Amino acid sequence: MSHLLSVVVATPAHAGLGAALTYEHPEVLAPGTLVRVPLGKREVLGVVWDGAPLDTGADLATRPITEVFTPLAPLPASWRQLVGFAGRYYQRSLGEVALAALPPQLRELNGVQLARRLKRQPGPATAHTPPPVPALSPEQTEVMARLHTARQPVLLFGSTGSGKTEVYLRSVQQLLESDPQAQALIMVPEINLTPQLEERFGERFGADGVVAMHSGMTPPQRLASWLAAHSGAARIVLGTRMAVLASLPHLRLIVVDEEHDPSYKSQEGARYSARDLAVYLAKQVNDSHPTPDGEASHCRVLLGSATPSLESWHASETGRYVRLAMPSRIGGGCLPRLRLVDMNHQPRKTLLAQPLLDAITERIGRGEQSLLLLNRRGYAPVLACHDCGWKSECAHCSAHRVFHKIDRTLRCHHCGFTERVPRACPACGNLDIAPLGRGTEQIEEHIIERLAGVLRPDGQPAQVARMDADSTRLKGSLEQHLARMHSGEVDVLVGTQMVAKGHDFRRITLVASVNADAALFASDCRAPERLFALLMQAAGRAGRDASLGAGSEMWVQTGYPQHPLFAALRQHDYPAFAAQELKDREAAAMPPFAFQALVRAEARSQETAQGFLNEAAALATELPGADQVTVFPAVPMTIQRVANVERAQMLLESPTRMALQRFLAAWQPVLLDTRQGPAGKGLIRWAIDVDPLNL
Ligand SMILES: [Zn+2]
Ligand SMILES: [Zn+2]
Repeated sequence: MSHLLSVVVATPAHAGLGAALTYEHPEVLAPGTLVRVPLGKREVLGVVWDGAPLDTGADLATRPITEVFTPLAPLPASWRQLVGFAGRYYQRSLGEVALAALPPQLRELNGVQLARRLKRQPGPATAHTPPPVPALSPEQTEVMARLHTARQPVLLFGSTGSGKTEVYLRSVQQLLESDPQAQALIMVPEINLTPQLEERFGERFGADGVVAMHSGMTPPQRLASWLAAHSGAARIVLGTRMAVLASLPHLRLIVVDEEHDPSYKSQEGARYSARDLAVYLAKQVNDSHPTPDGEASHCRVLLGSATPSLESWHASETGRYVRLAMPSRIGGGCLPRLRLVDMNHQPRKTLLAQPLLDAITERIGRGEQSLLLLNRRGYAPVLACHDCGWKSECAHCSAHRVFHKIDRTLRCHHCGFTERVPRACPACGNLDIAPLGRGTEQIEEHIIERLAGVLRPDGQPAQVARMDADSTRLKGSLEQHLARMHSGEVDVLVGTQMVAKGHDFRRITLVASVNADAALFASDCRAPERLFALLMQAAGRAGRDASLGAGSEMWVQTGYPQHPLFAALRQHDYPAFAAQELKDREAAAMPPFAFQALVRAEARSQETAQGFLNEAAALATELPGADQVTVFPAVPMTIQRVANVERAQMLLESPTRMALQRFLAAWQPVLLDTRQGPAGKGLIRWAIDVDPLNL
């Protein structure tokens, strides 16, 4: 006799929601079992799902499951709940989310090949002698004690250098000691930050039980990590946002470091927030293991940041999260003093104000390092002709091509279109075409010029380096840059925001933001929050060494020194900044006081893209939840055209998450129909982004 089973396979993004297919098999298989099944003419990977299979009707013969991956334990219930939730909440098909969460190589293996991989898994952990553990500060001790009793998600509000990582390490240590099976998931926003974290955790707990998970790994590496996590052999998983979707059957602790970082939000496929999924996942684990006395199977979630997202901050104000603060820096290093340079009082076209240059020069003489931040790579964002007004526009995008002086190219940062810099203006032949605005290359060139003749204490000329996406493109070049910085070989480092994140440079005593004014007046309501976080984080790079801390400074060149953001920055007062921002957000009915979704559409013409969205909206006025959802008219995206594709978006807003979710679920089939109808003609793609971060 054969049984009918629901199996989830990778269905195309918009093939319809929640569709598990029905297959037959001689035995009943547990939900979560991995199988291979026929789909059309192919054979694909699938996951046996919960619930009764759909009645396929007598006329439709069900096909048999081809192969069962018996050596592999079924995927845990908490994982199935998580991907099910992610699919529903972010408006994608269950199959798409579930299969995308599995390592790609798993799709290509059959049972025999998989069994061979499993044999290759490392044996039991070898004995590890942990290094001496540093004593905790009073603040860390207090936090550890309170962590233990917290039942809600914990927001660890700790300033840069306050020792958050040690709290993570101790929490993991307590967990591993108290429960011989328990697993911990530690997430960081950037791939760049995983190696240093891996090293610290490996040192403390032995490298055997620690695996990494991020998109920079090769398919075999990813599969090996995934199998180690799934089998329980890996007690600690370190990774970027994708790690939240790993299968961790004994998960008892989730840490989201730098929880405010926008990289936790995926920008493709199911546009999920790994931070929000982490909170959901911990709740699932707890709900599925109800223990009256608590301890044994409770899964904790710990969100860490010096500048929490306003969403998390608000949750900690209203009591949904527990907030634990660590305001002091370990070793007594103090946060740098803010120095604002009013650029209105500087000569026109000043790149770096004289007092800033003097401060940098002084530091070089003392053997200290400086960090200059500018969030624009290349030499200049535009090349222009002053005679006829020609500008280096991209032929394929509504954006300018960036001038890169190093290889004399004009490069579009959106579509990649690259050309040699023309000898003369392509429009009028004028030989005098000039860069407009500034990028990191230009700041690097300028500071090298201005520091000519400045000597280090060892009598050598001052060294300047640049660190951005261009200078770190080659494999290993990032590590090289970091090593040169750590060894003290570099005196001044110019870079984009990538240098502000996480790296622990001991000898930096000056950080300068060359030009951050655009973010003060951006239309995106999150721009000030991001700028504040970036400047606080950058400031955190300075004065980490207590002996140098007292003289450390954060310089900001701005045309708007009176802006309230700087007053809060001067005091390093995130709570004051957050209070003001939350007041503004509440008055404007913006998140976290409202809930948003964006629908984006791409087509060859702007008219088609907008037409599709407006048509689908016109058909949605009677849908459930519609009375509580404001649907705004379609508008072109900020960068309207990329690689000859026109892009439009439509904003949806609601005072309640539930109404927005109900509306989106009902609207999804309408959008699919509209796509098939006349208004969908010429449309290339569309997608829903729930809780979007970039408007
Ligand atoms: Zn011209
Ligand atoms: Zn382009």
